[in-house]
Amino acid sequence: MMKPRLLCLLMAAVMLASCASSPPDKPLTAAEPDDAPKNKKITKVKNVILLIGDGMGPQQMGLLQEYATRAPNSTYPDGLTAMARMMDAGTMGLSTHGPVDKLVVDSACSATQLATGQPAPSEVIGLDANGDPAPTILERARAAGLSTGLISDTRLTHATPAAFAAHVAHRSMENEIAEQLLTARVDVMLSGGLRHWIPASASDPQSAAHKALVERTGGSVRIKSKRKDEHDLLAQAQAAGYQVVMNKSELMEAKGRQLLGLFAYSGMHSGPAHTLRRDDPDRTQPTLPELATKALEVLSADEDGFFLMIEAGQIDWAGHANDAGWLLHEMLKFDQTLKRVMDFASQRDDTLVVVTADHETGGFGFAYSRAGVPNASALPGAAFVGRAYKPNHNFGDLAVLDRLYKQTATFEDMMGLYDRGQDKSPEALAAIINQHSDFKISVEGAASVLAREPNTFHHDDHKILSADTFPLVNDFEAFYVFGEEVRMDLIGRALAQEQQVTWANGTHTHTPVAVIAYGPPQAAERYSRFMHHTVVGQITAELLLGHR
Ligand code: MG
Ligand code: ZN
Repeated sequence: MMKPRLLCLLMAAVMLASCASSPPDKPLTAAEPDDAPKNKKITKVKNVILLIGDGMGPQQMGLLQEYATRAPNSTYPDGLTAMARMMDAGTMGLSTHGPVDKLVVDSACSATQLATGQPAPSEVIGLDANGDPAPTILERARAAGLSTGLISDTRLTHATPAAFAAHVAHRSMENEIAEQLLTARVDVMLSGGLRHWIPASASDPQSAAHKALVERTGGSVRIKSKRKDEHDLLAQAQAAGYQVVMNKSELMEAKGRQLLGLFAYSGMHSGPAHTLRRDDPDRTQPTLPELATKALEVLSADEDGFFLMIEAGQIDWAGHANDAGWLLHEMLKFDQTLKRVMDFASQRDDTLVVVTADHETGGFGFAYSRAGVPNASALPGAAFVGRAYKPNHNFGDLAVLDRLYKQTATFEDMMGLYDRGQDKSPEALAAIINQHSDFKISVEGAASVLAREPNTFHHDDHKILSADTFPLVNDFEAFYVFGEEVRMDLIGRALAQEQQVTWANGTHTHTPVAVIAYGPPQAAERYSRFMHHTVVGQITAELLLGHR
């Protein structure tokens, strides 16, 4: 009879061989590399907390780290980010994330691959390469008797959370996704996107449904439905045993074991205006760190363990807008959320925390330039006796980090103010931008944000590309896809030189993302490799469920 170890090695060899010879659309295996230690005891993982920074490539992590450690007025007194603390105590790998048959991934496909461990096509939710429903780690955890949770600062029905508990052909099918999330009986669901959970008639201000919801929310949430039917998912949730909460104080006081929290019409409050006013006593929306704390409190009561996915989803939105100030504030929010998670996990030996991203957004980076080349200065060292210190290029002042922090509104907020205003002049736009940004724009710069060109990528049957004109982009225009939102990217372009920032595009890049793991050491070290997101999904499911 073949010895188990030999059988193991043979199987690994077969799996590796099939991996090497197969085209990229074949499932990648979670097999250990050949030189991995064999037969070691894996400490059992009771709980998994998966944090996804949507659009958080290594560059975005670097922005947070530079700010925390080197901004002259860093809000981190010791410079120590939760991310660095986690990396110090844990492991790190890198992961690619491309869809089954393409180069660049969207959030729906990427989250599907993480959730199912299987390759997926673009823009699908919870489906395999053929388009069939694929079981997710959350569903498998629930079937095994664990508690489950989904948290996001976007919408509950948005691509990233949806992919863990819904199965639909396209990420835009958010009304169907809401029904499926409810059917999936995820124990704790906290996010925005109320618009997909209330009946169509609630859009009518005269309707009883509308009035009841205005009263219910105290006017803190815009009441308008995106549904085409009269399904009242809040009532269904309550009938199924959920406690439904809609503001910060209800969340804090909630005692339910099944908790549905919907705190905003669409995405939750975000950006500098809200992160800077985090301690505002009048704030009715909870923050992402507050959602995480509550979810951990509820889920950790389960003796069998839990699976919790937490998404910081607006890192991606800042990236799409090429808005470096917003991006910094979203990274700070992510890190505060991670701190809550690490405070929880570091008190225990049974909880695995995995931090990753679904992809990088925008091709962000600080870069050195030929603008503002520094004057000669002195350096005290021996090499500079009788010689000035005079680098050839502007390598970027650290003060840029503080100035990014000082931004008080997102580019999206700024364009909203402009669009709602009467004055459509470049001067009016410049005034709005200069009120909220420490980096100033000229009237010519503002005019460049408002310039138009014919849409040469016209498509009749397309939500965005049916437009006749587009904001005028001077380079890589095909990679700026979101219609009027491209004006935000043009603000980014106009401020880029002063911000010492460049952006490659308004979409996603293939840049490999970090996978940081903390927890039982033999579990965490499984991620210390170069892998694909399907493998991250496979390893995580195996560590959480394989031993049960
Ligand atoms: Mg997302
Ligand atoms: Zn995106």
